[in-house]
Formats: sequence, C-alpha cells, structure tokens
Amino acid sequence: MHRSGNPVLAAGEDPPTPEPSSAIVHAGSALEIPEHLRADPFVRYMSDPPLEDIANVDALLEAGFAKEGRLALETIICPQNYEDLPDMWRWMRQQGIIPEVEIPTIHGRAAVNHMSLSFDEAEASAKYRALFEELLRIDETEFGFTWIPHPPFPAGSCTLFETNCYVNDRGGVQPCAGVDKEFGIIGRDGTLADIVTTAEFQGVRRVRERVAEPCASCDLIDVCYGCRGASYQATGDMFAADPVCFRNQDVTPPKRVTQGCEGCSCGS
Ligand code: SF4
Repeated sequence: MHRSGNPVLAAGEDPPTPEPSSAIVHAGSALEIPEHLRADPFVRYMSDPPLEDIANVDALLEAGFAKEGRLALETIICPQNYEDLPDMWRWMRQQGIIPEVEIPTIHGRAAVNHMSLSFDEAEASAKYRALFEELLRIDETEFGFTWIPHPPFPAGSCTLFETNCYVNDRGGVQPCAGVDKEFGIIGRDGTLADIVTTAEFQGVRRVRERVAEPCASCDLIDVCYGCRGASYQATGDMFAADPVCFRNQDVTPPKRVTQGCEGCSCGS
C-alpha cells in the first residue's frame, strides 16, 4: 500500500489479471543476487521475476491505472542499475507511472550485500547528486515538472516519521522499515494504539525539531529531514544527519556502527 492509500506495488502470488481492484504486480529487479542467497524463494523471485509479472505491468497500464495517477513503480538506486535509471525514469513518466527511485537503506540482509547495493562511501554522495540532477533535467525539459534534489528520493520527500508506523513480523513497532528500533511489541507491551501513543514514540513525530546539524539548519528542513533509516543504520542515532546527503558533505560523515540489536528494545 502506498502512502497515498493506493495499492501500487507488491510482490505476491495472485495470478496475472487486468482487474485493477485485485491487481498485484511485481516489476522486477536488476539486482544480481549473490549465490548463497539464491536458495531463498523470495530473493530468487525478486531477482528473476517470472515473465507473466512483466505482463502484469502491461495489464495495469491497459486497465488505465497509470492514466489515473494510481500506479507507481519502485526501485532502489544501486551500481547495477545506475546507468539505466534515467531511461527507466523517462519510460515511467511517459507511461504516467509515478517513479519511486530511492537511495537504499542498508540493513538486515542488505548489510551482507552492502557493496552490491550502494556505492563506495567516498563517491556515494556525488553519484546520488549526479543522478538526481539528471532526473530533474529530464523532468524539467521533457515533462514540465520541477523539484529540489534532496534525499532519499527524487521528486518527493519522506514524511514517514510524522505519519507512519511499521509493524515487523514479530509485532515490533518501529517508526519505519529502515529504523529497526522497536518501541514495543504488540501484545507484550499493549496494543498498537498503546505503543504509538507513548511519549517515546510521539517523540519520533517531532523529527524536524530533533534532527541534528547540519539538517537542523538546512534551508530545506521544512520539506526534508533526510533518510532517518540511513542515519540510524550509519550511526545508531535516528536523528543524526543523513550520511549521504549531497547538500551536507562539507561536514564529517557519521561513523558507521555495527549492525544488530544494540539499543533496540526487543530484548534480544
Ligand atoms: S542537509 Fe538534511 S535536511 Fe538538508 S537536504 Fe540534506 S538531508 Fe535534507
């Protein structure tokens, strides 16, 4: 389910169908999955989507989803698809598809494949800046859209910390998928409502007041607070400055910390 409330992109077992109400589609991934992960059925599916799923995108287009602005496709930005992304972006715009092209948050299994999913620390910001600026050029010259480049995705801003919660597969309540700090577990610590109304969780909502420098003084703070997941995974502090923002690279990047359950309330 997209933040807008529209069902726009999912991986699932439903058979291909042109019916908008039940259409579930997987658009595929250009990612090369390391051999040791290929046994995982879900990872295998993501890396090698069946042809009928590509046909499913066509079915959604034929059903008029894109014309109504209800179809979005998401991909991360990674070394494997970097050069193709301007063409992918242009194709989605031409179809009327909303492109969601995102700097990946490196956590969970992604941490194992870190170098497949992100760029070397020394060049990451410059790579993202160049891509965002090229996508903006395409939007302004070919489609009449304009926006200000900033993380974590082009032509949009993250507002999840102010509007969202994420429930993981064990009932742990997080601010978003990228910040895997649990503020409580449903059942053990009360209901979902109990957990999201605690003072601690409500403190997440005040992200724009709490975010560290240089984000705090950034002229874009009203429309951007960076990627909180990227900050959390890089530093252990969900309110640290975005580590790959190309607008704050004159500041020493946060030090990467060991991944794991440290600082998490899950008790593991
Ligand atoms: S410095 Fe922070 S608030 Fe400013 S654009 Fe970068 S991530 Fe966004």
